Amino acid sequence: MTRRYDQIIIVDIECTCWERRPPPDQISEIIEIGICRLKPATGERLDKRSLIVRPVQSTVSAFCTELTSLTQEQVEKGVSFAEACAILEKEFKTRQRVWASYGDYDRQQFERQCAASDIRYPFSASHLNIKTLFTLIQGLRHDVGMAVAMEMMALPMDGRHHRGDDDAWNVAQMLHRLLTIRQQVTQAE
Ligand code: AMP
Ligand code: MG
Repeated sequence: MTRRYDQIIIVDIECTCWERRPPPDQISEIIEIGICRLKPATGERLDKRSLIVRPVQSTVSAFCTELTSLTQEQVEKGVSFAEACAILEKEFKTRQRVWASYGDYDRQQFERQCAASDIRYPFSASHLNIKTLFTLIQGLRHDVGMAVAMEMMALPMDGRHHRGDDDAWNVAQMLHRLLTIRQQVTQAE
């Protein structure tokens, strides 16, 4: 399948979570898929989308609401996970494009949840781990969280951290900065 390099699809998910382990009868599931399309040639961020997804084997805890601001009432109005995957494929062409996220968590959760619910994995194999890229480019000995990385790059955190759409939007800017660092150095010489 042709891989389109004109846009990178940046994804940031939020999931049901608890302060410690999940209750015995629940598992962590995706409740929001934040999406931002980045044009690598210009750095233009095309959109900021939030797909709210209805969990089926878990509920939103008070801890999760505090972290993400998402409530049980809100996610109950969301689309099913299967519908969300279909939207990614159809509207964002995620099976043909490079996609990126900060860390490997988002990719692993999609793989897990697709396998568990017997839903086709909606992405291409071209996943870019922005955390790895950041760590290598900065020459760090160990990786750091997204908020710290943004601060280290003196980039603003727009919106609310731990909301998928805002996280995706912000990390898209970081990715563009990282992709153009070589250019910035050359121009300064
Ligand atoms: P983030 O993209 O950093 O907002 O995190 C994605 C998801 O990871 C959240 O929606 C939670 O499910 C989980 N998560 C992040 N931070 C924590 C935390 N401190 N405790 C428990 N779960 C967390
Ligand atoms: Mg997030």
